[in-house]
Amino acid sequence: MVSAEDADADVGVMHRLAVAVEMPRHAGLSDTLDYLARQPLPTGTLVRVPLGKRLVTAVVWDRPEVAAADDGPLPHALREIAEVLGALPALPQTWRALVDFASGYYQRGVGELALAVLPPELRKLTGVQLQRRVARLAGYPAGTVDADEGSRDGGDAHRGAPARPSTLGHLTGGPGGPTRPTPSAEQLQVLADLQTDDRRPVLLHGATGSGKTEVYLRAAEQALQAGRQVLVLVPEINLTPQLEARFAQRFPDRVLVSLHSALTPAQRLRHWLLAHLGQADLVLGTRLAVFTPLARPGLIVVDEEHDPSFKQQEGARYSARDLAVYRARLEGVPVILGSATPALESWQRASEGRYRRLSMPQRIGGGAMPRVRLLDMNLQPRERGEHAPALAAPLRQAIEDRIARSEQSLLLLNRRGYAPVLHCGACSWKSQCPHCSAWRVFHKVDRTLRCHHCGLTERVPRACPDCGNLDIAPIGRGTEKLEEQMAALLPGARVARIDADTTRLKGTLDAQLAAVHGGEVDVLVGTQMVTKGHDFRRITLVAAVNPDGALFASDFRAAERLFSLLLQAAGRAGRDAEAAARSEMWLQTWHPQHPLYAALQRHDYEAFAAQQLEERRQARLPPFSHLALLRAEARTAEAALDFLTAASDAAAAMPQAGAVSLYPPVPPPVARVADVERMQMLLESPSRIALQRMLGAWLPGLHDLRTHHKGVLRWAVDVDPLGI
Ligand SMILES: [Zn+2]
Ligand SMILES: [Zn+2]
Repeated sequence: MVSAEDADADVGVMHRLAVAVEMPRHAGLSDTLDYLARQPLPTGTLVRVPLGKRLVTAVVWDRPEVAAADDGPLPHALREIAEVLGALPALPQTWRALVDFASGYYQRGVGELALAVLPPELRKLTGVQLQRRVARLAGYPAGTVDADEGSRDGGDAHRGAPARPSTLGHLTGGPGGPTRPTPSAEQLQVLADLQTDDRRPVLLHGATGSGKTEVYLRAAEQALQAGRQVLVLVPEINLTPQLEARFAQRFPDRVLVSLHSALTPAQRLRHWLLAHLGQADLVLGTRLAVFTPLARPGLIVVDEEHDPSFKQQEGARYSARDLAVYRARLEGVPVILGSATPALESWQRASEGRYRRLSMPQRIGGGAMPRVRLLDMNLQPRERGEHAPALAAPLRQAIEDRIARSEQSLLLLNRRGYAPVLHCGACSWKSQCPHCSAWRVFHKVDRTLRCHHCGLTERVPRACPDCGNLDIAPIGRGTEKLEEQMAALLPGARVARIDADTTRLKGTLDAQLAAVHGGEVDVLVGTQMVTKGHDFRRITLVAAVNPDGALFASDFRAAERLFSLLLQAAGRAGRDAEAAARSEMWLQTWHPQHPLYAALQRHDYEAFAAQQLEERRQARLPPFSHLALLRAEARTAEAALDFLTAASDAAAAMPQAGAVSLYPPVPPPVARVADVERMQMLLESPSRIALQRMLGAWLPGLHDLRTHHKGVLRWAVDVDPLGI
């Protein structure tokens, strides 16, 4: 027998290190594994270690406080670190703290999360390969790195001239040196307020067109002058090029990188390395960029902070906005959350004084907000038995007036495809997806029926599959049909459509936007995609064709989303001060008395927020309670239900369950997707901490529980879910 002391002697000067490797959180396993190293390594060092029969990239981690060094396997049972990726500086302590927090809060393994948020390419490299990549980055010149989206090269980076897409010329003031517009009084006030040493997160509530970006630019300038890096998060990849262009224009002497999922793996690694090494001054990205390690952080900005895209919807379901706030505190840097329609959670935090609210209610240049007109569809004359027309007569007239004046109109309809369902009048067959509890959508352009949930795409049948009737007809209206109807209704008008279907190919969105900016379009039909951030100068009319659906949706956030969508959409109109006076937003509604529309008519976010928050308070919904969803997927609904019921029973028996309400398992709105049945169970608590304690104690046991429920394919927990 060898005693522990002997074993220690055997390994001599070997050092025992905790290492975060990619593995899910399981019962009985700590978040890190112990390995041996021949030299002491700083925490945060990237290493390669044997795991099972594989060699995997991993990170030397801070030793968990609970696990004493003499706990666990004897040193001689431990394996040795295979390689130290020493070309890279250790990942900073704040980065590890952020990952630690996120893994605990969102209930994922530390190693699982840490490795998932590193660039995938990084994990494929050996020490020598990494060293080469790092060496290549030395002395990177100023400008936007890889600005040309066409460059898919591995090493020869496109550098130098910052991106200036032609469509953005009016934004950036054209080529030339950095031009700094004179700030408005409101911007000056906000900038002055940012100077004070109030360390609370800033909620910048600025009307659409109030110039929030100029505030970001000025705040960034300060951080850059102080030798710091700036991290800017945006909700959509589509929004990065124009923001990139504005930052590049303002800071031509700085290195700017973007981080989002549309980059090639090589680009993403290069940009990440430049940020981590401190060579990039500005880092712009989507939600995953919140985990970018920064050598000298100075400012974090979250633009359009209310946007649901900041919530990751699979794997670790984190909120990048919430993590940005947490990270700013860790790093001791300011954070600005900007929006015209803040998330009600953020608004409430500001009301409680936890965030500092700064407001810019006026549009730049004194432009008026577009007038909001409610078109009461109940009062529109109609032939007996006729379906409601796509556009009521007054709206059609208003659009024709615009066309006559060479102004543009934007028609918003949040449903793509031609019609949401096909229907046989003879036997009542409908275009149900055979694999999902959803209709397949009719796309006329290629005569297909497509399921938007599982992707199943088939040719439209010539006749009803059930009874052979040749007369199967579309019901309802999507953007494709609206586009067709507009072309018929407005002869001679140039009608275009922008939605996920027309922009599937790389570069098509840019081309379509350029056509709109260039005045080649009279009427633009689009989904919410066109309401975000785009600066349309010639649009003086925005119309929501059928916005009522969300008023009565079961999702408690539906009203908040609708208000935000419509206010953003209204903000697309009259961006030119001169055109602002005659800009309008039209809403075709059957419910003109609804308080949401009344608040919208006054552009009164505050009144809307106050009313919504009161409803949420009474219904004990966020931000007045804290939610988590346990989801299960199985081949049968019964198997999913059995698992969740057993999980619920286990929860109810726990001492921590006292402050947490457990709701019975129910199917989500679309229960079956691709032949997988889904069920979910809601947990609610007035106390975030109580909910966290409960989840932490409960979830590890579910791994075991699942082994008794063979039918369950997957389960996952979603903390602070966006939809329930
Ligand atoms: Zn039929
Ligand atoms: Zn389907």
